[in-house]
Amino acid sequence: MRQIDISQVAKLPTKYGIFNIQAFKEEGKEHLAIFTDTLSDNPIVRVHSECLTGDALGSVKCDCGEQLAFAQELIAQENGMVIYHRQEGRNIGLLGKVNAYALQDKGLDTVEANHQLGFKADERTYEIVEYILEYFSIKKIQLLTNNPDKINSLKNIEITKRLPILIKANPYNKEYLQVKKEQMGHLL
Ligand SMILES: [Zn+2]
Repeated sequence: MRQIDISQVAKLPTKYGIFNIQAFKEEGKEHLAIFTDTLSDNPIVRVHSECLTGDALGSVKCDCGEQLAFAQELIAQENGMVIYHRQEGRNIGLLGKVNAYALQDKGLDTVEANHQLGFKADERTYEIVEYILEYFSIKKIQLLTNNPDKINSLKNIEITKRLPILIKANPYNKEYLQVKKEQMGHLL
């Protein structure tokens, strides 16, 4: 593993509740762990991949913003951790993502658009996520996800349970959610 710089722990009051926050910096990318004071030995964990448009700009082209809100709300109540994984746009970056959106405006779906730009449908990697969980001495988790790839990607962590995130489709993300389900194996 490359050099990882780790911040102090700070408090982060949010509209969902009060969390602790800690930053993990690897070569140019900074990730976050957002967690409650109490963590069981089998905590609820959400690995949330950065989606600036969905998380911060209120985009309804995807379901990321709602998934993040659902995760923070649940974890505020039940205890656990959100790992905010800074691999924007399934790790094609903002430039790649906006170009993919432009192709989607012309009628391509999310997978076709990525392929046309020379990317895989999903370019994410999860080493830093395992690093963060290991740092907290978390060996098993209840993973909050609809994405079975994430279950398979966390090889060194025991996933005792998958907890679904239930988000309603809207007219803008209906087709996107359909592609996620049919082509990317998401359990929606
Ligand atoms: Zn998104």
